Amino acid sequence: MGKALIIGCGGVASVAIHKCCQNSDVFEEICIASRTKQKCDDLKAKLEGTTKTKITTAKVDADQVEELIALIEKEKPDVVMNLALPYQDLTIMDACLATKTHYMDTANYEPEDTAKFEYKWQWAYRERFEQAGITALLGSGFDPGVTSVFSAYALKHYFDEINYIDILDCNAGDHGYPFATNFNPEINIREVSAKGSYWEDGHWVETEPMEIKRVYDFPEIGEKDMYLLHHEEIESLALNIPGIKRIRFFMTFGQSYLTHLKCLENVGMTSIEPILYEGKEIVPLQFLKAVLPDPSSLGPRTKGKTNIGCIFVGKKDGVEKKLYIYNTCDHQECYKEVGSQAVAYTTGVPAMIGAMMLMMGTWKKAGVYNIEEFDPDPFMDALNQWGLPWKISEEPELVD
Ligand code: NDP
Repeated sequence: MGKALIIGCGGVASVAIHKCCQNSDVFEEICIASRTKQKCDDLKAKLEGTTKTKITTAKVDADQVEELIALIEKEKPDVVMNLALPYQDLTIMDACLATKTHYMDTANYEPEDTAKFEYKWQWAYRERFEQAGITALLGSGFDPGVTSVFSAYALKHYFDEINYIDILDCNAGDHGYPFATNFNPEINIREVSAKGSYWEDGHWVETEPMEIKRVYDFPEIGEKDMYLLHHEEIESLALNIPGIKRIRFFMTFGQSYLTHLKCLENVGMTSIEPILYEGKEIVPLQFLKAVLPDPSSLGPRTKGKTNIGCIFVGKKDGVEKKLYIYNTCDHQECYKEVGSQAVAYTTGVPAMIGAMMLMMGTWKKAGVYNIEEFDPDPFMDALNQWGLPWKISEEPELVD
């Protein structure tokens, strides 16, 4: 079918690359390009001989638009999969525009000096992508990503209007470390130490970090503490789901994680303000990332399951109804299949599927779109086929 250029070769990219290689009919060729080329070469060496997909590698600094343009012009991919960090979204979008190549990512743009999680920078590209006749697919991970597609699917098949969405992200995996993050520590800690917020009656309601706590009995896992966080898909779902009154996002955290995080915050280690250390500027959070376990090393030690999904309350034919769509994933099963834990797996699989939707022309409209703006059905089928089967419950316990 075609060729993808994959930028980044970290935890999420590694799973997406494994999945592209399982799907060689669509991904006939991939080029893996990242800052540290050695990681790309190591992964290529591991996968070659196990797949029909032709793999090449390249070194690229994705902060440099000219370097990206040169790489895209050389490789001529059908789609660029941005699996680097949110800081690179705009430079990669610029390069896609210059070369008229489809773009996708799993996280919205963030400037390095603020932790905002807003779409406004990427939405500002809408007209230019439309005029260039190419698609930018935003947020094709799990959350955002699958949770957004669950929302579009619930609206299409089960509701006339959805009034309430609670997105619940539970990771009941245990890696045995007192403190480690399951994906890029810098991005993860920026997200969880920011103020919480939810959408209600047309506006944001802000909370202190971790101010709102609930306990939920997750299917296949059991009771866990979960906390309300700001999360980027709330912003686009609030616009794209008509009739919505409230959207909240909850994530589970264990007590050890929270105690360590509080202590690191109290001593200033999670700050993104640069400080002078021995005459050199360093960002405390970036230093912390360097001393924490690399999330990609957690695979062999993480045991347990994840459960991520959405609870919807709305109306069908004038009658109130509720629905829960969720996926559960087993860390050890993921490790056996692709050598990664479930947090990387649940993001890397939808990244491959989103790119496949663009490559096959299943999703085809020029412009910049959040994932819930496309027909959810082919994506939902692909989740079942590619390792993230979902379940539906019509009698879920609601979150108060
Ligand atoms: P990692 O830190 O493991 O990997 C990031 C990769 O990007 C590394 O290979 C890194 O290179 C590369 N990179 C960073 N900067 C540059 C640059 N300037 N030029 C080229 N390559 C660069 O991160 P994750 O895999 O954990 O996360 C990847 C993305 O997925 C993030 O944007 C994250 O927010 C998102 N995510 C989305 C989720 C969702 O559900 N939607 C869930 C989890 C993550 P090097 O090896 O040199 O460091």
